[in-house]
Amino acid sequence: MEKRMPTNDDYYVVETDERSPSVRVYLLAVLQGLFGVTLRHFLRNLFGGKQDMPTISYPEERRPIPEGYRGKHVLYRRADAPDKPRCVACFMCATACPARCITIEAGEYQDGDRIEKYPVRFEIDGLRCIYCGMCEEACPKDAIALTSFYETAAYTRKDCYWTKEDLLESIESMRRRS
Ligand code: SF4
Ligand code: SF4
Repeated sequence: MEKRMPTNDDYYVVETDERSPSVRVYLLAVLQGLFGVTLRHFLRNLFGGKQDMPTISYPEERRPIPEGYRGKHVLYRRADAPDKPRCVACFMCATACPARCITIEAGEYQDGDRIEKYPVRFEIDGLRCIYCGMCEEACPKDAIALTSFYETAAYTRKDCYWTKEDLLESIESMRRRS
């Protein structure tokens, strides 16, 4: 079939902005925000006591975390073998992950008369993760969970790439270190 080039009739023009140029420079809105909101809060906080001030003295004070908050992940350890992760390297979490930020390399070991799988490598790219919790939902072993730990700021991209050892660290230990 011959390819037809589009004409003007193929397009529907949507008028998106009919405001005058004086409105579109947002000067009035900026001044309203500056003097109507910012200055009002500034003066009220300065002379009206601290009760209205939304600022908290972090890290001495910490904001309460809402129930269900999803922060950094942990990998749980086996109850009967605390040196081993509960993860069996089934790839369900990596398959469910919409951000494709989980990398797993599977290995095997002899456990009594059984062959068990385990993650030789288990890594999460914390900069790509969108903290959706799909990995936690997909895991058949309850081996991965998102915790309420949110202090994941780092100086390098490499430090935002969490390895198996990072993920096996308990939330208490992460809190002590932060
Ligand atoms: S929280 Fe979502 S984006 Fe992050 S690793 Fe899990 S599935 Fe992927
Ligand atoms: S879904 Fe669970 S058991 Fe499977 S690879 Fe992910 S963390 Fe491991």
